[in-house]
Amino acid sequence: MIILKNQEEIAVMREANRIIALLFQHLEPMIQPGITTEELDREAELFIRSHNAVPAFKGYRGFPATLCTSINEEVVHGIPGQRPLRDGDIASIDVGALYKGFYSDSARTFAVGSVSSKAQDLMKATERALTEGIGQAVPGNHLFDISAAVQEVVESRGFSVVRDFVGHGIGRSMHEEPQIPNFGKKGTGPLLREGMTLAIEPMVNAGTWKVLILKDGWTAVTADRSLSAHFEHSIAVTSNGPMILSTL
Ligand code: MG
Ligand code: MG
Repeated sequence: MIILKNQEEIAVMREANRIIALLFQHLEPMIQPGITTEELDREAELFIRSHNAVPAFKGYRGFPATLCTSINEEVVHGIPGQRPLRDGDIASIDVGALYKGFYSDSARTFAVGSVSSKAQDLMKATERALTEGIGQAVPGNHLFDISAAVQEVVESRGFSVVRDFVGHGIGRSMHEEPQIPNFGKKGTGPLLREGMTLAIEPMVNAGTWKVLILKDGWTAVTADRSLSAHFEHSIAVTSNGPMILSTL
């Protein structure tokens, strides 16, 4: 069942997600060669707690950290550690918070120093796919109109969409129905209705869409070790169109 939210609930979700947008603004200047993902993680946890919220991922199914930090060929669910970021890396940071009973969830891929033009194209394509996907999130459209829009942008630029992980509904739980694949057929899937709150999150690989899970049980990497990017916004479907919750 897809749980609809009223305006008051959406207003709280907006606050929960705004904390994450502020966090990204805070972290961005720190994402430089030499910093470790563990240092970023510590900073993120302090920031979230200082905004009267709780890191949503820490402890979720045993995940040990506030951030998922996925570098280069890592797709999602990377665990922060002592590996320093290097010039030319791309660093995907995925983070959520629990605030007044509601979850937020958002992700971005950052360039560390100067990155290759291929990496820039990959990040641009992923962000553009997210924008196009969000654009389909209007009442009366079908859910997989979002998926099809994402897939079209990605594949037209010669990249591939990850199949094994999907976007999701979000609210009083971090993962609610529906699942939102980043591939699909236009005009199919449940009808979108006002009050749906969705985390749309294209994960895009430069090579094959296939992924593997590392021995840590969490980190997903591209099967061919090609680069991967990830952008995610939580949004609300409203009569005025899609409302991005995870923005400043
Ligand atoms: Mg996320
Ligand atoms: Mg998510």
